[in-house]
Amino acid sequence: MRTIVWFRGKDLRVADHAPLRAALAGGGEVVPLFVVDPYFFAPERARAIAHRMQFLVDSLGELAEAIAARGSRLAVVAGRSVEVVPEVAERWRADRVVAQRWCEPFARERDRRVTEALAGAGRRLELLDGETLLPPATLRTKAGTPFAVFTQFARAFERATSQAGAAIAPPHAAPRALPALPRDVAADLRTRGAPLPTLASLGIAREPRLVPAGEAAAHARLRRFRRSRVAAYETARDRMDVDGTSRLSQDLHFGTLSIRAAWHAVADAKFRSELLWREFAHHTLWDRPAVLAEPFNAKWHGFPYRRDDRGWQAWVAGTTGYPVVDAAARQLLAEGFVPNRARMIAASFLTKHLLIDYRRGEAHYLAQLTDGDWANNNLGWQWSAGCGCDAQPYFRVFNPTTQGERFDPDGAWVRRWIPELGTDAYPAPIVDHAAARERFLATARDYLRRRSRSSEPAAPDTRGSAPSRGRRRTARPAPP
Ligand code: FAD
Repeated sequence: MRTIVWFRGKDLRVADHAPLRAALAGGGEVVPLFVVDPYFFAPERARAIAHRMQFLVDSLGELAEAIAARGSRLAVVAGRSVEVVPEVAERWRADRVVAQRWCEPFARERDRRVTEALAGAGRRLELLDGETLLPPATLRTKAGTPFAVFTQFARAFERATSQAGAAIAPPHAAPRALPALPRDVAADLRTRGAPLPTLASLGIAREPRLVPAGEAAAHARLRRFRRSRVAAYETARDRMDVDGTSRLSQDLHFGTLSIRAAWHAVADAKFRSELLWREFAHHTLWDRPAVLAEPFNAKWHGFPYRRDDRGWQAWVAGTTGYPVVDAAARQLLAEGFVPNRARMIAASFLTKHLLIDYRRGEAHYLAQLTDGDWANNNLGWQWSAGCGCDAQPYFRVFNPTTQGERFDPDGAWVRRWIPELGTDAYPAPIVDHAAARERFLATARDYLRRRSRSSEPAAPDTRGSAPSRGRRRTARPAPP
């Protein structure tokens, strides 16, 4: 039995890696493979996501070393995955290809096409779960539909995993050794292999302020969180001036740390609840792939967002005159990271104060965040805009000034990012908070009134039934 283990960029580790374990369990030959696909690695595409690309390229290099240290070698080939994977499987006479499942619609389409091409030659693509704690589509309401409310999803998760034998299994250690790369594959790679991508080959300048990449750094972050941050996590997580969170988001996105490893290392209820928001986002994307294109709440389809290029430029550059919004914008561009509270305030400001389409902000964050993740980012943006799955009610509009006073009480964080704060060089606010809030509420009320009078159906069938959120409107929902 010859198995190709197809590493695909969201599973960049050797520990607790289900496809690698499955290949080794087969007892035969194992070919670890990475495909340099132009979908991500065409230089202009790579440069558009430079922070993520740096983390990916560095993590990939470390993965190749970890595989080499265990006696094998990461086979690297270039080309479109849908063509290259069936080709190498044929040339290398592989019996099967194993990989970790992705939730994104474009990735599912890729997998469908690879499955079809492999099947044509009598081969299988085996997709194994591992990106989430439970496989997508396992949790359902009593009516058999996907959950649309986080607390109900979390309760169902708790019920499902507290049954005998159903607890989340502990993570597996990395294999000590791997079988050597088959000789014919090694020989083929001499002529048809590709080099590992580097930042230089992609034309990306290294950004030293990003978090260090790779599996070892991820485990170090997890240890640091356990040792010195978890005790105060519940209160510190909302502070923008305190490094009180795990900083594991890029690791969970790129798979330099398995989600089970994070779950088992930290039993803190608040932290686990954040991991469940991630779980909820991924399961939602699996069940409702249309959320990447349209608001989850069909009532918001066609909402009259404004095209305000001046406002957009100010929001991107961090010159709106609202220090918290501006610090978030500048930290994003410089470090590829923004604290969760600041993400919520900045997203709320863009969509409500400036009435700019959340999808513009979503795309900018996806491009600039090192942890840019289709599912989590979409949920975060739709939550903030008020149009999402279990979103913040639309009529709650963050006041960026009072939020700053609460969650950056000494102003240390905003001063770090806006050295000119308090001088003439810092711009006056581009909108007045009270007026902008009123404008948004009036626009939303008017739009929703017109929608409810129109004959359009409330929600397309594909979205499943959204349990009534009427009761929740009165209580302040826990932010994600
Ligand atoms: P911790 O507080 O230590 O949380 C632990 C882990 O739980 C995180 O690493 C993350 O995997 C998960 N998590 C925490 N909060 C959320 C959440 N609200 N939704 C889903 N998962 C969560 N997170 C991303 O991973 N990628 C994104 O692209 C992303 N975009 C966002 C955009 C907006 C507008 C908002 C409001 C939130 C976004 N988030 C995103 C969620 C959250 O802000 C980050 O996961 C978190 O700030 C990362 O820091 P941390 O790892 O220290 O988090």
